Amino acid sequence: MTRRLVGGKLVVASHNPGKVHEIATLMAPFNIQAISASSLKLAEPEETEATFAGNALIKAKAAAIASKLPALSDDSGLCVDALDGQPGVYSARWAGPAKDFQLAMLTLHERMQQANATTYNAHFTCALALAWPDGESEVFEGEVAGEIVWPPRGNLGFGYDPIFVPEGYALTFGEMPPAQKHGMSHRARAFKKFVSACLG
Ligand code: IMP
Repeated sequence: MTRRLVGGKLVVASHNPGKVHEIATLMAPFNIQAISASSLKLAEPEETEATFAGNALIKAKAAAIASKLPALSDDSGLCVDALDGQPGVYSARWAGPAKDFQLAMLTLHERMQQANATTYNAHFTCALALAWPDGESEVFEGEVAGEIVWPPRGNLGFGYDPIFVPEGYALTFGEMPPAQKHGMSHRARAFKKFVSACLG
């Protein structure tokens, strides 16, 4: 049975203020205080695994051991069928050191053209890892399927949102009101599993 979180502190193993804020908001009703890895000055480990779950575990385990508190991390990305699942765990890296997602989307488009893509199917995945200071850990994954479109549309989201239309919708994630995206995204689906297993 899943080990449950009952009140107290939870380290959010991320140096991304957006992610920390999102997780802190989610935790507040459960009497759990989310604190960021950067406020504890924890080092950012290298993400060396080939899977989202593997990289999420690296981050959560490092933070739990260093802080002696339970830690939650998130690893996510976009997988394109015609590119054999790329950019996948390299989604952030395709944007380069300047985190230029116009460049990342253009690279993705060019690679699909070079591959003579006949399918535009893709999915976002999010892996949430919860790790305890004694080494126990668990991963919760969420996915949302959809299609790649070109040119990019909308500026409401981040990352690859402007070129992804979720299945059953006409708008890209970049055109959708954030509340609508947050209700159905890969991250929302992973959080739902985490909450029902560990907090509900
Ligand atoms: P991480 O911070 O290492 O997990 O990197 C995840 C990367 O995947 C982000 O930098 C984005 O490029 C991409 N990504 C993950 N989730 C989303 C999303 O909801 N919309 C758009 N891009 C996303």
